[in-house]
Amino acid sequence: MELYNLSIRKAHELLVKKQISSVELTSAVLANIHRLDPKIRAYLTVVEQRALEQARKADIRLHSRENITPLTGIPYAVKDCFSTRGIRTTCGSKILQDYIPQYSASVVEKLNNAGAVLLGKHNMDEFGMGSSCENSAFFNTHNPWNLERVPGGSSGGSAASVSAGLSLFAIGEDTGGSIRMPAGFCNIVGLKPTYGRVSRYGHIALVSSFDSVGPLTQDVYDCATVLQTIAGKDPKDGTSLPDPVPIYTTSLEKSINGLRLGIPREYFQAGMEAGVETVLQDAIRVFEKLGMQVQEVSLPHTRAALPVYYLILFAEASANLARFDGTRFGYSTNQKVESVIDLILQTRQEGFGEEVKRRIMLGAYTLSAGYYDAYYLKAQKVRSLIREDFRSAFEKCDVLLAPTCPTTAFKIGEKKQDPLTMYLSDIFVVATNLAGVPALSLPCGFSEGLPVGMQLIGNHLSEEILFQIGYAYQAETEWHNMHPLIT
Ligand code: GLN
Repeated sequence: MELYNLSIRKAHELLVKKQISSVELTSAVLANIHRLDPKIRAYLTVVEQRALEQARKADIRLHSRENITPLTGIPYAVKDCFSTRGIRTTCGSKILQDYIPQYSASVVEKLNNAGAVLLGKHNMDEFGMGSSCENSAFFNTHNPWNLERVPGGSSGGSAASVSAGLSLFAIGEDTGGSIRMPAGFCNIVGLKPTYGRVSRYGHIALVSSFDSVGPLTQDVYDCATVLQTIAGKDPKDGTSLPDPVPIYTTSLEKSINGLRLGIPREYFQAGMEAGVETVLQDAIRVFEKLGMQVQEVSLPHTRAALPVYYLILFAEASANLARFDGTRFGYSTNQKVESVIDLILQTRQEGFGEEVKRRIMLGAYTLSAGYYDAYYLKAQKVRSLIREDFRSAFEKCDVLLAPTCPTTAFKIGEKKQDPLTMYLSDIFVVATNLAGVPALSLPCGFSEGLPVGMQLIGNHLSEEILFQIGYAYQAETEWHNMHPLIT
């Protein structure tokens, strides 16, 4: 197997046995980036020299046999919404096209301390708004399984990268499916952890009450390894949870016999592509074979999840994005302006893309006097009902199974002009963000040559069980071992 296709687990084994060095591994991945990224376009920035330098340091650490972690010497990259000290951080937007942060996000610091090797920054939909990576202000990313298709979004660069061997793992952000949906489209594993499980410090906020930071990896074992490193309380993020972080990898082999798997009726009604449904039914049979008790459950307010998600997103995002005004950092207009107000208006007019402007306008509208009660407040009330749906479902079962997306990867350009159709691709992923519960997307088969993802959804802080079930599934199936053939 090529070095760039190694799992973290396997690469770690080889690094520790000194069969390969981090410099060799990092160089192999960088060579693969040179070979394939001109076609895939997963990266906005590659920091080659810095990566090789970090790899050299990791080799010294590995050689001394001290302070070695499972990620020491492993090359990875982050979505471009995470601040990286001294490295351009654009969030996929023209308004931050030349922005170089003075500090790094906590997640990057933690990985740095663990000895992981940062390769660069991944392309994304502008400020995380989108489901296809087509809203990046810079270029489209292509799906490694079919270059004419989207990789999903908004962490599309990250998913395409891990799938094509352009990084061994990636860190993404999931506000309404942005880790899981592209993971599903690109045949990799993606976890949206419990809200607050991973620090958001240094992540450029989209929706502060939904945003969750999580890993994109080749398999469940790797996902558990990365979460282990990045999870936990961070004094710099008041919403990060104080609960202890379990050692996820030690319980992976526990039997799942007898665990209760709930199939939410509402997720199997709403216009799923036939090929996706067939694959999902096959996956349910695998879980039955593994001894799980499968039962139907109901999440009665599912229909409201998408409108509630978008209403709250518009409102919170419009407030979060107010800080980009051309006066402090980031892009500032070159036009001659008469006043500070004109400077702000002109900068925002030039700096934000169409989708971002649409959402800011809708947010300002839903928060304005006279509409606040009818839209924002009502959406928050329905959000409580959705949270309640999950609470009562988890009284009857340990975990829920759902499709990640109703379709496989669609064609580049197919939905770009029709925002509502684009929003509909998020139909199965947003409710978990409203409820704050964790969800793991993993490969479960193919429909007409394109990958299909399924989600395992758990109760708050149940990542350990999600990993156990996902691991048992991957021990029984081969989907996660399939790599795209890119010509
Ligand atoms: N498709 C979602 C949206 O456009 C993705 C948001 C996210 O998770 N960053 O809002």
